[in-house]
This record gives sequence, C-alpha cells and structure tokens, in this order.
Amino acid sequence: MAKYKLKAKTVNDIKNGEKLIQYKDFINEEKAQHFQEGAVITMQDEANNFVGKLLVGRQNKGLGWLITDIEEEYWSEGLAYYYIEEAIAQRENFFEDSQTTAFRLFNGEGDGIGGMTVDFYDHYLHINWYSEGLYTYREWIVEALKEILPQAMGIYETLRFKTDNQEAQVALTSGEPAPQPLIIKENGISYAVYLGESWMTGIFLDQREVRQFIQTQAQDMTLLNLFSYTGAFSVAAAVGGASKTISVDVANRSLSQTQEQFDLNGIDWSDGQEEIRVMDVFDYIAYAKRHQLTFDRVVCDPPSFARTKKYTFSAEKDYQELAHDLFTLTAVDGMTVISTNHAGYRPENFRRDILEVAQKHPGTFHLIQQFGLPEDFPTSQDSESQYLKVLIFYRQA
Ligand code: SAH
Repeated sequence: MAKYKLKAKTVNDIKNGEKLIQYKDFINEEKAQHFQEGAVITMQDEANNFVGKLLVGRQNKGLGWLITDIEEEYWSEGLAYYYIEEAIAQRENFFEDSQTTAFRLFNGEGDGIGGMTVDFYDHYLHINWYSEGLYTYREWIVEALKEILPQAMGIYETLRFKTDNQEAQVALTSGEPAPQPLIIKENGISYAVYLGESWMTGIFLDQREVRQFIQTQAQDMTLLNLFSYTGAFSVAAAVGGASKTISVDVANRSLSQTQEQFDLNGIDWSDGQEEIRVMDVFDYIAYAKRHQLTFDRVVCDPPSFARTKKYTFSAEKDYQELAHDLFTLTAVDGMTVISTNHAGYRPENFRRDILEVAQKHPGTFHLIQQFGLPEDFPTSQDSESQYLKVLIFYRQA
C-alpha cells in the first residue's frame, strides 16, 4: 500500500489533537493533489513510522481529516458506526434534559468523522454534508443513525458541498416531515424551528450558552439586539425579565419570526416593550447615536460578511468600527456582547482587536466573560475550527 510522508510539524500537530489535514502537510504536496475523494491514505513521519489515516474530503477547511491514529483500525462501516455511537453517548446529558431538546449530535472531525454535522431537533435529525468524499459513505452513516436512534422521527439532509451559496436545498430523506413549526426547548425557553426550508432553521444551536447568559443577566434591563434574525437573544432576555428589548434586522421575515418566538413564550409584544425594527443595523446605530440612546445590554452577532443596499460589512475588516459604536450605545453599568462566527478571524486576533477598541474608547470597559463553542460542538485543535467567539464586556464608567 502506498504511504505518504508528513512534515514534522504536522506530525506534532496531530499528536496535539489537530484533525484537519492540508496539502501543505505532506512533504510531497504534488502527490496529495491527486488523492481521490473518499480515499483513505496512510500517513507516515519522515522515519516511516505510522502517524494516522487520512480520509480525503476536500472542503474549504482543507484536504480531509484524520480518520484514525490507530494502525489496526480501518475506515469501515463498523468504524463509522462506532464514531456515531460514541458521539451520541457523549450527549447523554442532553438526551436526559427535558428542558433542552435541540443540540448538535455530531460535529464533524471533532466527533471523528469530518465533512458532516448532525443536529437533533426534538427527535428530527438534520444532516449537513460538507464533503463529496464523505457523501460516498452516506449509507453507512444514515443507517448507523437510524439504528442507534430508532426514536428519530424523520431525517433531513442538505448537500452543502454542491453549492457555495446559502440556498442549499434541504430534503426529507426518511421518516415523516416535522411539524411546521417544530417547537424545541432550550433551557426551558421555547423556539420555533422550520426544518426542510433552509439550512438555517431559525435557531443557531451554538449560541445556547450565550442565550442563557443573557437570560440570567436581563432582569429589569433594556436590551438592544443587532442582527437579530429570529430574535432569539431578545426572547431569552424577555423571559429573563428584561424591561424592554429592541431587535434590529434588515430581513422582512424577521418581524413575523420574532413575534412568533415571543408568542410561544407568552410574551406580549403588542405593548411596545418588545420592539422589532426591520431596518439596516448601521442606520439604526446612526439614529441611536444621534439621539444619544443607551442600553443596559447591547448584543451584536452579525454574519461574517453582509451586503445590504447601502453598506457592506466584513467581520475581519469592519468589526472594530462597529465595536466602537456598540460600546458607545452601552449604558454605564451595562454589558456589551460582541460575537462573531467568522472562522477566518482567529480568536486571538478578534480578542486583541476588540480589546484595543475597548481601551481607546472614552468609557471604561472590562472583559468579564468569553464564550466559544459549547460541548456539543467538539472540534479539532486548530483555531479555525473554533469559529464562534463571543466577548462580553462590563462598562464601569
Ligand atoms: N444573531 C442572530 C443570528 C444572525 S444571522 C441569532 O442569534 O440568531 C445574520 C442576520 O443578519 C440575518 O438575519 C440578516 O438578515 C441580518 N443582516 C445582515 N446584514 C444586516 C444589516 N446590515 N442590517 C441588519 N441586519 C442585517
């Protein structure tokens, strides 16, 4: 069997938990270009010692991932089954928690198989396929899921490798369709999700801990939620006793979707205490600054890139300027929640950039809390995989 040599640094990184493999990790990069999608490649160090096996599945993340570092282990139906069984066993606390019924069941290479994720939405599964190579093994994975989770009512699948845009089709591939909406719970709060419409279901499960934090810090507070989408942070704050929430998103659908989430939790939005503004965040910020409005809690969770009629936003280029305004809109004794899910923005750089803005701002800010991905989103050791970065500042003066 052909074997391929890795650079010494890669060998070391793999020993430290790195799972993603790049072309440049091979001494002969040229050869790596020719690896077939779905192939298994044995990797060695320069002294011909076994290092691990690569499953080739090209994604924007790289060439593929380490499928095992055990020489006697082979990529097979049995190994796929084992990884899925292990992942499910590790989520036992979620299955037992009646107050949280949606979570990530399988998180790609962090759970042993890259190129796919599986989310659990109250007994419906949503598989996202990111790799054509892995998709050739679809049967193994879907069958294992069905066997280990016979209680799953339906399975939806999205082929994310076919298209770079956000419109990837979602299809129900087995079982029965989920109710529309499907009501899930998270720490006792209800949220409506729509499976089968888009890969965006209405709730980003990776923000669970941040929503909980906001809920617990909301009593009698005013909250401004920018890029609010379905208003999940506002709902968490309202359930937590916020005196007022303002949700701002440019998408028309965000109005009815946010009202729906409030309704589900018995929060009356018709009294004007839960404002939902369909408008550009940057226009709202200009308006709020002009009127010198401040809020006890300012939450900002933008997309990595966004273009509206008037503005473009790129997290890496523009977040510092935005953060300055977020600090300005935060009341003294208040908190600013600054989030990005941009994988290319390294955690240490994001932190450094935002800290720099906090230091230069005329107010006095302390970084009091940070969140990354929660435990149901295990990742490889590299910083790109840990894409979620949330910084929470307290404003002292
Ligand atoms: N914070 C949300 C997720 C945000 S998704 C949550 O916790 O669920 C990104 C959202 O940003 C989308 O709903 C999109 O409509 C909105 N958006 C993008 N650019 C915008 C802009 N310039 N002004 C207002 N909303 C914008």
